[in-house]
Amino acid sequence: MTLEKRQPIPVSEAIQRCTNQALRLSQTTVDLYEAEGFILAEDIVATYDIPRFNKSPYDGFAIRSQDSEGASGAQRLAFKVIDHIGAGAVSSEVLSEREAVRIMTGAELPKGADAVVMLEQTVQTDEGFTLRKAFSQYENVSLKGEETKTEDVVLKKGQRLNAGAIAVLATFGYRNVPVFQKPSVGVIATGSELLDVEDPLEPGKIRNSNGPMIHALLKKEGIDSEIYKIQQDDFESSLAVVRTAMEQHDIVITTGGVSVGDFDYLPDIYRALDAKVLFNKVAMRPGSVTTVAVSEQTFLFGLSGNPSACYTGFELFVKPSIYRMMGALRYYPALVRAILMEDFKKANPFTRFVRAIATFDGRATTVKPSGFNKSGAVVAIAHSNAMMILPGGTRGYSMGHQVDVLLTETEYYQQDLYL
Ligand code: AMP
Ligand code: MG
Repeated sequence: MTLEKRQPIPVSEAIQRCTNQALRLSQTTVDLYEAEGFILAEDIVATYDIPRFNKSPYDGFAIRSQDSEGASGAQRLAFKVIDHIGAGAVSSEVLSEREAVRIMTGAELPKGADAVVMLEQTVQTDEGFTLRKAFSQYENVSLKGEETKTEDVVLKKGQRLNAGAIAVLATFGYRNVPVFQKPSVGVIATGSELLDVEDPLEPGKIRNSNGPMIHALLKKEGIDSEIYKIQQDDFESSLAVVRTAMEQHDIVITTGGVSVGDFDYLPDIYRALDAKVLFNKVAMRPGSVTTVAVSEQTFLFGLSGNPSACYTGFELFVKPSIYRMMGALRYYPALVRAILMEDFKKANPFTRFVRAIATFDGRATTVKPSGFNKSGAVVAIAHSNAMMILPGGTRGYSMGHQVDVLLTETEYYQQDLYL
């Protein structure tokens, strides 16, 4: 057997090779109430001004500002109230001199009115009220179009729909929202040592934790996945399952079998599929053997079987690729800078990604490992909200150094209330 020589590439280049792939998902529509987390497929243009009419931001009285000229504490001016409207109502009255309309928050200003006197700024009289100061034109008025004008692009194609975007879509009457489809994903755990979660343990065997973990990582992005039967380390049957999964899905994620061991069949499978291998060696730890390939318009992610490496590979390569396929404008991982709270004296030629806990302590963000951190570790993943990034090189890192941190969750980021 000849050992293929693998050329490690930098992590950033590996991510870019993934996101540079021209695999795109088609457009569809989703119900507004299901749209959160989808990527918008069209610019949304305002079809009317917001606010749509001059309206009152307070409960009070709509007046003509000119009628308040000269008012002061010594010379209060009296107004007569000729109508009373709440939000949603429109007054049919037109204001004449020293007339006012009682108006509630959100109601349209009546004709002739150009200012609102807050209730607290008035003293009630039999006919209406008096006020003690002059009001300028449009004082206390939410002006038509002050937030958004007709034809403004209010949401951009490629933006991820968050709650605010949902509110904007509702404002403009989109019950059905144009979005890009989410990918359909198949997940295949490979390894003759693997047992299913409900199987009793046997000598030499371990339970498949990667499959459920990948399923959960996808679910967090609102993506369903099909979990295939665990595959033994066998070339023919594994190839057959990968082929089936490729027919049924846009993305096939395998875990395990990407190294150069005697029973690592994924490299042979990529060869058999005549897949375009984007890379099969990344200058990172863990997961240097992570392999990404494309075949028949299907993304093949060959993640390492080591749980920490598998997790890291998902965050670094799968997730950005998914968002890129979905047409997202932004798809790179979120990085912050934090103060390292532990020494990492041993230099490493490859960039290290350490499952970590990042916390804001009221002044700065600090970061430390979330537990035992070998590539086979699984518990530390559960306690992490981030991965600290220790670039490869000839020197180690000491407590107090600033390092980049890839955020994976917002949970636990703030352990106390710093507000
Ligand atoms: P491999 O990438 O196949 O060389 O596997 C690397 C290590 O990860 C080995 O110790 C495997 O037993 C372990 N491993 C492989 N697949 C899984 C899995 N699905 N769940 C948990 N551990 C795994
Ligand atoms: Mg294996």
